[in-house]
Amino acid sequence: MNVLVINAGSSSLKYQLMDPDTGIVLAKGLCERIGIDGKFTYKPQVEGKETLKAVDVAMPTHSEAIQAVLNALVDPENGVIASMKEIDAVGHRVVHGGEAFNKSVRITGEVMNAIEDCIPLAPLHNPANITGIRACEKVMPGVPMVAVFDTAFHQTMPAKAFTYALPYEYYKNDKVRRYGFHGTSHKYVTSRAAAMLGKPAAELKIITCHLGNGSSVTAVDGGKSVDTSMGFTPLAGLPMGTRSGDLDAGILQYLMNKYQLNIDEMLNILNKKSGVQGVSGVSSDFRDLEDAAEKGNEQAALAVDMFNYGVKKLIGAYAAAMGRVDAIVFTAGVGENSVGQRLDIASGLEFMGVKMDAAANNCRGKEAFISAADSKVKVLLIPTDEELVIARDTAALCK
Ligand code: ADP
Repeated sequence: MNVLVINAGSSSLKYQLMDPDTGIVLAKGLCERIGIDGKFTYKPQVEGKETLKAVDVAMPTHSEAIQAVLNALVDPENGVIASMKEIDAVGHRVVHGGEAFNKSVRITGEVMNAIEDCIPLAPLHNPANITGIRACEKVMPGVPMVAVFDTAFHQTMPAKAFTYALPYEYYKNDKVRRYGFHGTSHKYVTSRAAAMLGKPAAELKIITCHLGNGSSVTAVDGGKSVDTSMGFTPLAGLPMGTRSGDLDAGILQYLMNKYQLNIDEMLNILNKKSGVQGVSGVSSDFRDLEDAAEKGNEQAALAVDMFNYGVKKLIGAYAAAMGRVDAIVFTAGVGENSVGQRLDIASGLEFMGVKMDAAANNCRGKEAFISAADSKVKVLLIPTDEELVIARDTAALCK
């Protein structure tokens, strides 16, 4: 069976064609600048086939982008399948499923209506996801499709974790609550952690740290998300590449009055100009920050320190919330690659049974135990694979 995994943004679309049973990827790539000047990248994972990198392809809409993907996949010379018939199903990443979806679902008219109902909750993301689904329906009619939600894994959070201390009617009437994101990643690394520890997830208390450009930490108790750091939107929790993370809402009033900012301008600052980029004034990329800090840039060093401190505090909070921790998992760009940040985050946690192994931690991008053999709490490095979860959920619902 082959599943085409689609992650559609407003002007971009990532894709992977994979066999969900083996996890083998046949081809992957990216359509960028959709609606602008169309750049198409295609990376076949089969030997002897040629890669296309950011070539010009007219993509006025997502439909032409999907068509370009299909053309490349079935291309007689560099394609990886003989015909479109070899694509058995399509799995779509959908950012927000609100309270309507606690798991992946086959896409029907009713499901599309429910995803549309979630647009006010994710006005930047859901419309793009819907456009991607509609484009596939147009170009690949009759192929079964599945929606996999970033929020679904967190629907198990108890009310005390997801309710904001606002007048209760804002939850009842307006669905203002913590939803949490990166659920597909937290779910994937949870299942891998259980496999590495040789125990069912149901018996484990795990803290999963998805640290990338966007970052979130989740408390996973018995395989279920019981708390997570992102909130009503992905702006909450840790400071991120360019997002502020949590802050005192009183700051908004102060700055908006002082600088005559409207709410859109303020939110643009919080989403695009804050986080480690804002504090450092250097970059949103942690590699640049580590370089700058090494050269003596104090703001860059402060930005990294703030981020690591934020992760450490969440680990402490979630340990208290669950009453025990069996494992801490690091994943995503920073979690998988930054040897120094992992060490900094986990150091000082010896009081709760975390003991790192500096030599074991000196690795990148592959599954590994990075804690000392006698560490009570195991620390794991697990590369995330959201596409694999999407492909597997899709296959399970389409077989
Ligand atoms: P997202 O999917 O949220 O865009 P990723 O999970 O790909 O982000 O993470 C991207 C971030 O990972 C980059 O911004 C960079 O800061 C960080 N990163 C990647 N490699 C390294 C590395 N070797 N050391 C430190 N940080 C890294």
